[in-house]
Amino acid sequence: MNNTEIQTKLSAELAQVRQRLLDMLAKSDQGYHQQLLSQLKDNPPSEWLELTANNLGPEYQLLIARIEKLEAALCQIDIGQYGYCCDCEEKIDDERLLADPASQRCRRCAP
Ligand SMILES: [Zn+2]
Repeated sequence: MNNTEIQTKLSAELAQVRQRLLDMLAKSDQGYHQQLLSQLKDNPPSEWLELTANNLGPEYQLLIARIEKLEAALCQIDIGQYGYCCDCEEKIDDERLLADPASQRCRRCAP
């Protein structure tokens, strides 16, 4: 896959995960979640992580972590650093990137 294809794939997944977050908040019976939901809808998705930071329970952490990872990978494509480990800056191997195109760390840094 070239970077444009990867970007398309990551953006599509990011849109899906963001939608899952909205769906999950919409289904919640906690008033606070409804409030947060309308806040998110009023703001660009690029600000959602900031708005949700430390405001959501552990049941949301998988979704939030995935959004973080996808946003980071897309940002890496923008700055030409895609596919490099964010700890040691070595190239992440293809097998790992194929398994998860949003991988941020190489096999040594995140076994
Ligand atoms: Zn590394």
